[in-house]
Amino acid sequence: MRTLDDPINLSIGQPDFAMPEAACNAAYDAMMSGKNGYTVTQGIPELRSRISSEVREQLGHTDRAFCITSGTSGALVLALMALIDPGDEVIIFEPAFVMYRPLIEFFGGHCVAIDLSPTFEIDIDAVTARIGPKTRAVLLNSPNNPTGKVVSSETLKRLADLTDEHNVTLISDELYRGFCYDHPFSSAATFSENSIILDGFSKSHAMTGWRVGYMHGPPEIIDACITLQQYTFVCSPQAGQWAALAAADCDMTESFDACRRKRDRLVEGLRDHYDFTHPDGAFYLYPKTPGSSAEQFAELAVKQEQLLIVPGTVFGRADTHFRISYTVSDDMLERGIEALIRLADSH
Ligand code: PLP
Repeated sequence: MRTLDDPINLSIGQPDFAMPEAACNAAYDAMMSGKNGYTVTQGIPELRSRISSEVREQLGHTDRAFCITSGTSGALVLALMALIDPGDEVIIFEPAFVMYRPLIEFFGGHCVAIDLSPTFEIDIDAVTARIGPKTRAVLLNSPNNPTGKVVSSETLKRLADLTDEHNVTLISDELYRGFCYDHPFSSAATFSENSIILDGFSKSHAMTGWRVGYMHGPPEIIDACITLQQYTFVCSPQAGQWAALAAADCDMTESFDACRRKRDRLVEGLRDHYDFTHPDGAFYLYPKTPGSSAEQFAELAVKQEQLLIVPGTVFGRADTHFRISYTVSDDMLERGIEALIRLADSH
């Protein structure tokens, strides 16, 4: 990328809007008032209580435990580390966020991948068929990176019922829940008290570098995660936690609306040139590649158009689709659409 003069970069998975000013000020105030040391492992009580009261109000559950983690990645690592014993199976849906497979395998688990292409809808019968005696967890991500799909409440409920029935833990990565454009978001925790929810401030409040995520779930699992955090990450950075506390009070509607407008513009611009399913959340579009290989297409895009996109092979085995991240300036988005149309036409 460094060798390109003026790349059209539609590859980066982070918001283009600014972290809220109140959150920046809170981080600054924290640093200047000497809040630079470790915090308790599970996170500052103010932030934990802020998040837990919001979750309790939404879900009505009173017996969930909470832990502030070092980004949502931290929550993911702790959940998998706490749950997986060597030989355990974890069901994932491909295409999937890049960290899922390597982390599961790193902890000695076996990934049972269900390929969702081309509809990217979850078929509950297919999940039922893959559950066996070794299944320990199902790992879900909705709104989804990379497809932009949001799982319907009905499917989520069926998945939650299925996992509860089989004594399997549903881990739900809900990091993109603010970016849900066409219908209200439902959390997996609405349907299963046994679920573990992974969430964070990275995408919703444009705080990717501050490393503040969180998880909640049944106390016996979250307590194990807190112990594991103590011996690994120790805590989420303190200034980031104070920033997140201020961020939690900031209304991000305008930023989410701006993302929705970019989504609409991209869909309208590419509709007649590419084949894709409607992206109702996150900030990604996942079109089918013209021609036979997404990897080759991504290489061609760089060569012909200085356009950076991510081939589907990063998210799973299929070399058929590519990811566009549309959280870029309007100008960059327009240049991206024009370049993508030229590439489609040249096939
Ligand atoms: N989960 C998903 C689905 C993601 O897309 C990402 C980041 O791109 C993460 C987790 C990690 O988020 P964080 O930066 O908060 O660690």
